[in-house]
Amino acid sequence: KGERLRLPPWLKTEIPIGKNFNKLKNTLRDLNLHTVCEEARCPNIGECWGGGEYNTATATIMLMGDTCTRGCRFCSVKTARRPPPLDPNEPYNTAKAIAAWGLDYVVLTSVDRDDIADGGAEHFAKTVSNLKERDSHILVECLTPDFRGDLAAVEKIALSGLDVYAHNVETVRELQRFVRDPRANIDQSLSVLKHAKKVNPSVLTKTSIMLGLGETDQQILNTLTELRDAGVDCLTLGQYMQPTKRHLKVDEYVTPEKFAHWEKVGNEMGFAYTASGPLVRSSYKAGEFFLKNLLK
Ligand code: SF4
Ligand code: SF4
Repeated sequence: KGERLRLPPWLKTEIPIGKNFNKLKNTLRDLNLHTVCEEARCPNIGECWGGGEYNTATATIMLMGDTCTRGCRFCSVKTARRPPPLDPNEPYNTAKAIAAWGLDYVVLTSVDRDDIADGGAEHFAKTVSNLKERDSHILVECLTPDFRGDLAAVEKIALSGLDVYAHNVETVRELQRFVRDPRANIDQSLSVLKHAKKVNPSVLTKTSIMLGLGETDQQILNTLTELRDAGVDCLTLGQYMQPTKRHLKVDEYVTPEKFAHWEKVGNEMGFAYTASGPLVRSSYKAGEFFLKNLLK
């Protein structure tokens, strides 16, 4: 331990590029949209934007700026106590741009804005309602902060017209304090997911866990059980990758076989879908998984 692990071969493979990819790439230029896909140089971009088997192009858009009020030990987003104020035109402009872009499924996410009274929930919700007004067919997933457990904020988003409410617990219960900002914890996150479902039972709830941070199999199993008990519908599991040398080290590169094992466990436990693999991210091919699940 102490040394950096070598990258295993399964994380170096070329990823296929689907047919919508070039179209989306070329039309993005003038829209002034900040995609996490491009900015985080996500390796799945060819597959997500490409649309895959169900031809559902998925992309993730970042709202509320590029500066977070928190500092999780796995995340390379920049941090400040008082980031610049929200752009009041963002909900309108972003919705307009997304509708013009031609996506089938969009994930709206944001930094945490603990400096704003409602954490930006209203801003988030307005973006969804503007978007659904313009394009009632587009599927919308919101991947939200925990709003420090403010359930009124959760409710605003859960009732905004979205299809999927996502919030990531990030890691097993035992590693929460080691991995996430101290203001986050699993009980608060579970209460967010539970509340979204309670106020809007037609919404699907979804969460994501990173593996390779030192968690044990038993801890993973216990956390999955807690998620099912909280009524969480969809689950994704992916490999943690260290973004810079100042971030948490990778403890283990979990093998593709082990990821496949967790996918099977998730399916047996009754999640509506479980996506599990080394390169899976919470928004990975989200549109495709959503449709596959609906068509089952
Ligand atoms: Fe990164 Fe989200 Fe943590 Fe902010 S709250 S540091 S954006 S993971
Ligand atoms: Fe974009 Fe998420 Fe797909 Fe990566 S996994 S390309 S961030 S939608």
